[in-house]
Amino acid sequence: MTLDGVVGNAATFIARTGQWWKVRVSDGATVLGIGIAIASWWRINEGFFRTIAINAGLAIAAVVWAWQAFSIRCPRCRLRLVLHAIQTSSVLSWNKRTPEMQRCPSCGYAGPQNNEMQLTSHG
Ligand SMILES: [Zn+2]
Repeated sequence: MTLDGVVGNAATFIARTGQWWKVRVSDGATVLGIGIAIASWWRINEGFFRTIAINAGLAIAAVVWAWQAFSIRCPRCRLRLVLHAIQTSSVLSWNKRTPEMQRCPSCGYAGPQNNEMQLTSHG
């Protein structure tokens, strides 16, 4: 469930567009959420609280995963990169498409070159 296998090969483009922290946050929260769910399932015997804790853990993982899938976008054409990789591939092979993502699969934007972002921010 972590994103390393999903977007690891797209790291160049995602990092270049300043969005790598979203992958890291999502990775951490997904592991944490699933960890809470597993720990709750394993350690808590009482039914009601156990159910809440398991679902809360899974909800954390699902919400954060969905957040990064929607928020990691091409800065030029706003394509949602992770969703695009999922939608344009089969369930079993969608993560194999990411090596192609050295640039935006829609508009071809490869991210800011030569510190473009810093230069423009100084006017
Ligand atoms: Zn694009």
